[in-house]
Formats: sequence, structure tokens, C-alpha cells
Amino acid sequence: MPSRRIEDLHPALQTLCRQFMERCQAAGLDILITCTWRSGQEQDQLYAQGRTAPGAKVTNARAGQSAHNAMLDGKPAARAFDIVPKVNGKPEWNAAHPHWQIAGRIGMELGLNWYGRPGAPFREFPHFELPKDVR
Ligand SMILES: [Zn+2]
Repeated sequence: MPSRRIEDLHPALQTLCRQFMERCQAAGLDILITCTWRSGQEQDQLYAQGRTAPGAKVTNARAGQSAHNAMLDGKPAARAFDIVPKVNGKPEWNAAHPHWQIAGRIGMELGLNWYGRPGAPFREFPHFELPKDVR
């Protein structure tokens, strides 16, 4: 099972993720974290989706290549988290919903690399990543 725990994020991202959740709540958004850390095996299963397994392609990263697989001192320390805004209590997957833009702006204000921003190399609205220069 991929983790949804904030504690499985990189320490710097734990702080940013909590700030992100607080600011989203203050803006009237109801945010669900769908994934923080996932194992290499789980990453490869996801990579197979849309290639050798049914479903739509959701990632270009194999095991160890995703920010969600990162470890620090032998422990999960994901460098990204995925979210979905809930509207009327239900996940709103349609990225045209304005709550996605508000959440994206809040993440970017905190210095996170939001893959839903216009011009992102691989557009992935749920994905917020710790900048590479943070160790
Ligand atoms: Zn992600």
C-alpha cells in the first residue's frame, strides 16, 4: 500500500506539506493527500499501467526514479506528495475545477514545484515536489 502519511515525507517537505494543508483549509479547500511515499515495487506496478497492464499511463518514472520513492537514512523520505481537492465531500479529479488552480498557487507560493503549472514537462496536477536543491 502506498503511504499517505505526512511522516513518510522528507523532513523539509513535512513542514511545507503541513503549511500547504493549513493554507488550503484557510482558503476554503478540502484537500485529500492521496500519496506520499511508495516503494520501488509499487512504482514499477504504476509504471506498467498503460504499458503492459491495463489503464491509462500515469507516470514516466520506474522504481527509484520517482520523487515518491526517496529514502533518507534507510527510511521513507518522499520528495513529493499527491493530492486531490474534495468538493462536497467527493474527490474532484477534473483538473479544470478552480480548486486545482487555488491549490497549485498555494503550493507554488510555498516554493513547491507543482507539476500542474503551465509549461511543466510532464503535466501532473496532483503532484507537488520539493525543489531539487533542498537536501
Ligand atoms: Zn506524484
